[in-house]
Amino acid sequence: MSNVNLAGIGMTSQRTRERLVGRLIEQGIKDWAVLDVMRSTPRHIFLEEALAHRAYEDVALPIGYNQTISQPYIVARMTEAVLSNHPALVDGKLGTVLEVGTGCGYQTSIIAPLARKVYSVERIKPLQEKARVNLRLLGLHNVHFKHDDGSLGWKEKGPFDAIIATAAPQQVPQELLNQLADGGRLIIPVGGEDVQELRLITRTGDEYHTRIVEAVRFVPLFIGAVQK
Ligand code: SAH
Repeated sequence: MSNVNLAGIGMTSQRTRERLVGRLIEQGIKDWAVLDVMRSTPRHIFLEEALAHRAYEDVALPIGYNQTISQPYIVARMTEAVLSNHPALVDGKLGTVLEVGTGCGYQTSIIAPLARKVYSVERIKPLQEKARVNLRLLGLHNVHFKHDDGSLGWKEKGPFDAIIATAAPQQVPQELLNQLADGGRLIIPVGGEDVQELRLITRTGDEYHTRIVEAVRFVPLFIGAVQK
């Protein structure tokens, strides 16, 4: 009986993922590499069983510890923003990418196939452990995790071709700007609790150019002490 149910879930998720990708295209996501990864990545494995049936709705959902799994559209938009036409692409992949706010690892699993190496920092230890299990389950072995305050970046592993921050500070942390490679891109939500602006910041030499992508709503980026 359970086998039959499992098979059913597998088929449904593939079909509903196709539908999700259709919606992403309608919403303006154009990069085929990003769409391909979104199509082939099972989002339901990142959720508690009770919420797994909602995995392919285009909404953020709770993952415990007062945190959320990001909305697929936003994950696609942020990935596309750092990836498309990036000058450092080799065979369609970025070199090194830093992620701030691993959570359960969904965004991590979308960027990992599109980068040589991903470094991801999370301040809540059990979430980091969940992400580690999820990424292993998906066979993604090019991700390195650190339990720390991600507003400090991960200096020893930089500079980074791209930095993806998935929690919102009031101001862009200086360390993240410092750790961008020449030509590198930082995508980051900035602002208060209710609404933030998603900024795409590109570094050229010592100059930084900012473009506002759209309004978003992320959980806050905590500065300082990490949580056991
Ligand atoms: N990337 C996730 C979204 C996770 S929500 C996804 O794809 O679904 C944002 C995460 O940022 C939370 O897990 C939160 O604990 C983490 N976070 C908040 N402030 C942080 C900080 N200063 N350093 C590292 N992680 C932080």
